[in-house]
Amino acid sequence: MDSDAGGLKRSPSLRFQGIAASHGIAVGHAVILRAPQERLLHWRIVPPPERPYHLERYHHARQLLLEAIRAGMNLAAGTLPDAHAIVESYELIVSDPAIEQTISNRILGEGMPAEVAVSTAYDAHIHALASASDPFIRERRYDLENIRQKLLAALLSPPPTTGSLRGAIIVAPSLLASDVLQYYDEGAQGIVTEVGGISSHACIVARTLGIPAVIGIRNATRLLDDNVQLIVDGTRGLVIASPDETTAEHYRALRDTRVEHRTSHTGIATTTDGVAIPVYASVDSPDEVPNAMAQGADGIGLVRTELLLVRLRHFPSEQEQTAWYRAIVERAYPKPVTLRIFDLGSDKAIGGMPHEPNPALGLRGLRFLLQRHDLLRAQLRAILRASVQRTVRLLAPMVTTAEEVETLLSLLETAKQELRDNRESFDEHIPLGIMVETPAAALLADQLAGHVAFFSIGTNDLTQYTLAADRTSNLVAYLFDQLHPAVLRLLQMIVSAAKRRGIHAELCGDLATFPSATELLVGLGISALSVAPTSIPALKEKISTINAAQAEQLLAQALAASDSAAVRALLNHQHSSP
Ligand code: PEP
Ligand code: MG
Repeated sequence: MDSDAGGLKRSPSLRFQGIAASHGIAVGHAVILRAPQERLLHWRIVPPPERPYHLERYHHARQLLLEAIRAGMNLAAGTLPDAHAIVESYELIVSDPAIEQTISNRILGEGMPAEVAVSTAYDAHIHALASASDPFIRERRYDLENIRQKLLAALLSPPPTTGSLRGAIIVAPSLLASDVLQYYDEGAQGIVTEVGGISSHACIVARTLGIPAVIGIRNATRLLDDNVQLIVDGTRGLVIASPDETTAEHYRALRDTRVEHRTSHTGIATTTDGVAIPVYASVDSPDEVPNAMAQGADGIGLVRTELLLVRLRHFPSEQEQTAWYRAIVERAYPKPVTLRIFDLGSDKAIGGMPHEPNPALGLRGLRFLLQRHDLLRAQLRAILRASVQRTVRLLAPMVTTAEEVETLLSLLETAKQELRDNRESFDEHIPLGIMVETPAAALLADQLAGHVAFFSIGTNDLTQYTLAADRTSNLVAYLFDQLHPAVLRLLQMIVSAAKRRGIHAELCGDLATFPSATELLVGLGISALSVAPTSIPALKEKISTINAAQAEQLLAQALAASDSAAVRALLNHQHSSP
């Protein structure tokens, strides 16, 4: 079933250099998630006692698909008048007795793995439909193709058995943020991928959860075998397979030292000349808040609430959201919490959202929510309920125009009125901020500042959109550089506009995590930074070594650079000078 790697996989010890995507060391056994095509092409007959398990896998995938179709269509109900009819027609296909029978025969009788049985059975039916004379029947093959693909996607993801990945290192062609969350929940402790961008949401989630990750190891799923021992050095971007015992022992000790040395840094970090810069934590769930506080977080600077949907696998009710936001706020109290409204779309799309050829430039973040006032108002009400103690701030992602902010403000007012009518308490003056993460928002920062209480700069997207380089692609990773002078110039524009208008400009993109960039950010006059909890102690320490007046001079030089290489050379020189 597995392709041979020319003897490589039997070598006693192998080293692979990739890209460091999430700090830390993990030592564990490999669980290889092969690309779907490979699992369909290379398979062996399943022994009879294991066949019922494959039938069960198929039934489970079918059930998941039915639930996803219904949930997706519920979500689309407001925008799609035929939603009900579409659900029914999909349900009929998924439950078609002829297809069911073929799949069952192939699994139990012929010994095909579930995914191969589904693929070949659907192929046969699609083929039959394609040659029908009635054009209406011929058209139906597209629905079958769609369903075949979705069933395969469900079957080709790892089996959802809780705890099955305890201590595992996941090796996969690429991962989504939702996959990382799932593997983490199932006990995985390290990640290796073949492709991906370091600012993808999958890597951000890995950093937030503190799972060491190395990306960009080409052909990793072919070169490595299941269960081989792996060391993931997410700080140096190194993966070692089948290490000798001395090396494994050395890395285990390193891993354990790192855990022991996590200390708490209390108090706001201050530069040598007295500029105080709060360091907040970016988190994705209530579970992460206690650790964030233990690492010395001065508050929560970013909650990516959309990851709640990804985790729950259904659209959360208003009650579920209220409980979740309250749990975060209570665990961080009395420190402030910034709840960002759903940034759905792009690499965090969910079923029911429109399929777009270019989703990063499509109906993402606030754009999507402004088309779904019902979802937005429910989320605003849930956030407002969590704001009673006046420690909550609201944040809107993917803003491009002042009109969007005005509409959001009026919907916020509606949500407040709904709570007042219900005699529910909330913070009447909850501050509303916007993510400045599109070039349009950066260029219009002085005007947008008039509408909101604070800016939070999203350098991940600002870089992607300014440099026209997809943050999830390793092919244009050489262009995607948050230290590009074009990005730095926009940052300066945003911070100066905020200062002129008397509002805070904070930064929650990955640039805040780069040790080499801290001095530039201090030079910019940034009001606060938000990073993954594990990065807080080092960032606070770094801030306390910087002189803000000197940092301004460094920034001036960086802004005059013509490319990222020149900026990096300047920063490296700065680092090496006494
Ligand atoms: C950003 O774009 O920099 C950001 C912080 O938001 P996200 O990574 O969730 O898009
Ligand atoms: Mg963003």
